[in-house]
Amino acid sequence: MKIAVCVKQIPDPAAPYDLDPDSHFVVRPNDQVLDDTDRYGVEVGLQLVEQVGEEATLTLVSMSPAGSLQGIRQALAMGADRAIVIDDETLRGADALTTAKVLAAALQEDGFDLVIAGTESTDGYAGVMPQQLAELLGVPSMSFARKVDRDGDTLRIERQTEDGYAVVEAPFPAVLTVTSGVVEPRYPNFKGIMQAKKKPIETRSCADLGVVPEVQQVIQSVEPIPARQAGEVVEDEGEGYLKIIEKLEEAKVI
Ligand SMILES: Cc1cc2nc3c(=O)[nH]c(=O)nc-3n(C[C@H](O)[C@H](O)[C@H](O)COP(=O)(O)OP(=O)(O)OC[C@H]3O[C@@H](n4cnc5c(N)ncnc54)[C@H](O)[C@@H]3O)c2cc1C
Repeated sequence: MKIAVCVKQIPDPAAPYDLDPDSHFVVRPNDQVLDDTDRYGVEVGLQLVEQVGEEATLTLVSMSPAGSLQGIRQALAMGADRAIVIDDETLRGADALTTAKVLAAALQEDGFDLVIAGTESTDGYAGVMPQQLAELLGVPSMSFARKVDRDGDTLRIERQTEDGYAVVEAPFPAVLTVTSGVVEPRYPNFKGIMQAKKKPIETRSCADLGVVPEVQQVIQSVEPIPARQAGEVVEDEGEGYLKIIEKLEEAKVI
């Protein structure tokens, strides 16, 4: 069974982001980290590999400026077997659909039984790339999984809904997105960190994959968020609640 996990390298969320003054894109440092959201996808993939046994493999697939590949090595140290990184300067400013097209080409070239992704990334937040990917690959999209089980050729999930969960089944191959409550991601141990240094990382360009990026985002301008207005203090001399009701009615929340 070939399991692929889509992982995104992002600028360290603990460090302030800089915006390029001309393009307004985030300036991507050389040493990007693994998006924390994607640790859950990697863990689900590793648990499935452990269930299936020796014939199962886990490949990371990432479209990002290669840089130091620190984020990819973090996921390899957790236990993934290898990684494919699509790095191409023409992808700067790529939107979610372009990303899905590029990742779909890489996945079709490499082959897969299951593709796992996060529900939304920590920096881009589009929350649509995996569904676009499933459509392009022509396979079922199993989203918002809070529990994942494999039963032979069937994937069964508990899909998180607003008021509970739905049990959803689909045959392999499929695309699965996992929520951050789905499992407890393992921390890489020393052996894993050392092994990750030797695991294969293959890079691809758009030309290698036969993809011509079509949709490019243009950010016209970026404005700082206006400072929050000071709130209004209601003095309560016994009938303060009436003033609050009036305010809530004005805001049309009651
Ligand atoms: C040269 C270059 C520059 C880039 N610059 C930026 C940038 O400035 N800002 C930005 O947000 N993105 C950038 N990207 C990445 C890419 O454009 C975004 O990944 C894409 O727009 C998806 O948006 P999202 O993260 O909001 O998707 P979402 O739909 O929120 O992502 C959901 C899940 O899909 C998977 N996923 C998403 N993106 C990728 C990816 N690239 N590789 C593997 N898996 C992925 C992850 O599992 C993620 O949890 C750049 C990429 C390259 C190659």
